[in-house]
Amino acid sequence: MGRDLHRLAERRRFVLAGVELPSPKGELGHSDGDVLAHAVMDALLGAAALGDIGELFPPTDAQWKDADSMKLLALCADRVKKAGWRLINIDCVVSCEEPKILPRREKIREALAAVLDVELNAVFVKGKTGEGLGPVGEGLAVEALAVCLLEKNEN
Ligand SMILES: [Zn+2]
Repeated sequence: MGRDLHRLAERRRFVLAGVELPSPKGELGHSDGDVLAHAVMDALLGAAALGDIGELFPPTDAQWKDADSMKLLALCADRVKKAGWRLINIDCVVSCEEPKILPRREKIREALAAVLDVELNAVFVKGKTGEGLGPVGEGLAVEALAVCLLEKNEN
C-alpha cells in the first residue's frame, strides 16, 4: 500500500497520474507534486520490498526537482517487473474538497493502466472528500492512497 499527501497552493497545477484537472489550486511539491503517482509508486515498491519513493528519488537530489512523476512511476514499474513481479490489480482513493475526480476518472485510470502496462479493468480510482474535516476537508491538502496486488513469476 502507498499513501501520499501534498499541500495545495495557488499557481500550481493539479495533476493526478499526469492528468491535469481544472482547479484554482494545485499540489505543492519538489517534483510536479503528483500525489496519486507517488502513492502508486510506494504501493508497487512496498509490495515488491524494493524500498520507497523517498529512497529512490530523494527530494534532496536536484535531478528530481520538477520531475515528471509519471516518468518516475514508469521507472518504478520497470524495477518491479525486473524483480520478477507481475501487477494483478491496483485500487486508489484520492481525497480532496475540489476539484471533483469523477469527470476525469476514466482518463486517470487510462493513464495509470498505460504506464503500468495492465488492462484498464485492473486499475480503479475513487474520489472522496474530507467532509470539511482536517487539512483535506479544509481544502489545504490532497491525499492519495493506493493498494496493489503483485504476483511473483514462477521462473
Ligand atoms: Zn508526493
